[in-house]
Amino acid sequence: MPPFLNTLIRRLARPSVYVYVTVLLMVLGWIVGQSVSERAGMTQLSAMTLERLELYSNTLDAELARHADLPGLLATDPQVQALVQSPQDIKLRAQISRTLARINVRAGAMQIFIAAPDGQVLASSDGAQSTQSPPPPRLREALNAGRPHFFAADERAASLAYYLLHPLQSEGGAAATLVVKVSLAPLEATWVDLGLRSEGERLLVVDAQGVVIMSSVPRWRYFLLGRGSGAARDSERAALRASGRYPADAGFEDMGIPAEALESPGDMPLVRMPPLEAIQKAGPVLMPQERPLVPLGLRLIALSDPSGVRRQARYAGWGGAAFGAFAGVLGLYLASRRRALRQLSQAQAQLQQAHAQLERLVDARTAQLRSTNEELKHQIGQRVKAEDELVQAGKLAVLGQMSAGISHEVNQPLTAMRALARNGLLLLEAGRHATVAENLTAIDAMVERLGLITRQLKTFARKAEQQEGAPVTLLTSIENALLLVGHRLREDVVTLKLDVPPALRVLCDGNRLEQVLVNLFGNAIDAMHGEPQRLLTVGAAASDDGRVRVVVDDTGRGMSENLLPRLFEPFFTTKPAGEGLGLGLVISSKIIHDFGGTLHAQRNNGGGMRFEFDLPALQDSSDV
Ligand code: ADP
Repeated sequence: MPPFLNTLIRRLARPSVYVYVTVLLMVLGWIVGQSVSERAGMTQLSAMTLERLELYSNTLDAELARHADLPGLLATDPQVQALVQSPQDIKLRAQISRTLARINVRAGAMQIFIAAPDGQVLASSDGAQSTQSPPPPRLREALNAGRPHFFAADERAASLAYYLLHPLQSEGGAAATLVVKVSLAPLEATWVDLGLRSEGERLLVVDAQGVVIMSSVPRWRYFLLGRGSGAARDSERAALRASGRYPADAGFEDMGIPAEALESPGDMPLVRMPPLEAIQKAGPVLMPQERPLVPLGLRLIALSDPSGVRRQARYAGWGGAAFGAFAGVLGLYLASRRRALRQLSQAQAQLQQAHAQLERLVDARTAQLRSTNEELKHQIGQRVKAEDELVQAGKLAVLGQMSAGISHEVNQPLTAMRALARNGLLLLEAGRHATVAENLTAIDAMVERLGLITRQLKTFARKAEQQEGAPVTLLTSIENALLLVGHRLREDVVTLKLDVPPALRVLCDGNRLEQVLVNLFGNAIDAMHGEPQRLLTVGAAASDDGRVRVVVDDTGRGMSENLLPRLFEPFFTTKPAGEGLGLGLVISSKIIHDFGGTLHAQRNNGGGMRFEFDLPALQDSSDV
């Protein structure tokens, strides 16, 4: 597509353009509607006027033809013939006058008279002595020209009269003329009446000289066709006045219809007419149309009023403008719709694009999350493994610490058992069976104690598999732990103070709880080593919230305040190398945490340390 077409289409898509286009279409619609309607209306008006002109001309023809045969008929009358022969016969003239008066009334003419060639009236329907009505020059002129009829103003009737002539021949030639005078005033009065009623149409009868001799507008009578000024027009008027055809007071004012306006009827020209009344300033603008009345030498002019047509044309113009507005608005609507559809499809495409992008993003993110999850799982697995290993390492460390004490613990009964056994052999030889039995019972008790110690060691060293809590009697766990550190308590002469209700039971793994307690007791004994006062206090109590709180107090060296926060850090130890690993408290804290409790450390009032932890209490003894 060429670039200018693209630009045009883009411009057309703008709503503001449609406002201009709509206004343009309205103006165009107005012009077209108005002009087409006016043209059609004027053509119709012209056709109707021409039809009516035909009708008017027929009426006029009929009116004039009504008396056409009357002069000829009267001329054949024997009395009239006789008068021609003896024109000065007074008696005959009076007799003929009476006859003419009778016929005049019956025929409905205005006057019938017989005139001598010199113009003298020989007989008349008005009476024998009547003067001649038409001006003699006009009559003579008509007679000389051999015209059978003519029009002339009738002074008496103040209107136009139509004269019909018939020469009366005597043996010596033309002796007189018979004249029938017909008044056109009644016909004109009908036209005036018609013009007043219809208001739309005016009618003029114009003679060969261009003078209006009959008119539906009385004021226009004796106006002169055309318009002009100067000597030529003045002399034309003077000649008309001198012709004697018109009343002496005829003004011959400008009628204003130029001759060329009537030449081509198809043109439908509009002419500004003289005012209808003398007081008016301007006359109406009318459309003149002409029909010649050839035999009479007259022109019938109809003036039709185009204002109705113009009104109709205005309505049609508004109709056209409305149509233009409708077309413009329709165009705007279609363009807006097209734009909206285009925007919609664009938005849909963008939405789809965004959707696809989002899906890709979600896929990528899911994959990333999955891999992060895998990584996390892996790390958690490693951590759990590491923690297990740490716990195990802690146990081994405690075991290492305890091994000296344990060997001492085992060696003692072993030495005692060897002594008892040897003693028993001697007693057997001596036959002291009862004492041998006592020795064996003592050995059995010692084996039992050794078995207890080894069982403890076995369970302590084993990795805990059972994670869920089981009912454990707290005092038993504490005593088992004390058993493992018992030799150290004795070595350092530590006073033990136990304040644990025997019925107190908790939910946890007993072995791991003992591991925690052994660690805490061991640390306390270490801290009290070489101290003047050595008191290990172990207390426990159940609280209302279903927990059991265990408190281990010592009177050892304690710790400086600034080191307290580092207590649960892995590998934090103050013990000499080879003695402490710095893992005991980390592992203990983890175990307590696994039981759903928390291990806290703080300095106690005696300057030593207090370790405190909580465990879920076993509420109902029936659970066991
Ligand atoms: P280790 O005993 O192997 O050093 P622990 O985690 O059990 O590891 O203890 C870390 C450190 O905490 C000890 O080295 C010690 O300094 C301090 N500590 C622990 N218990 C006590 C206590 N009851 N009194 C004073 N210091 C203590």
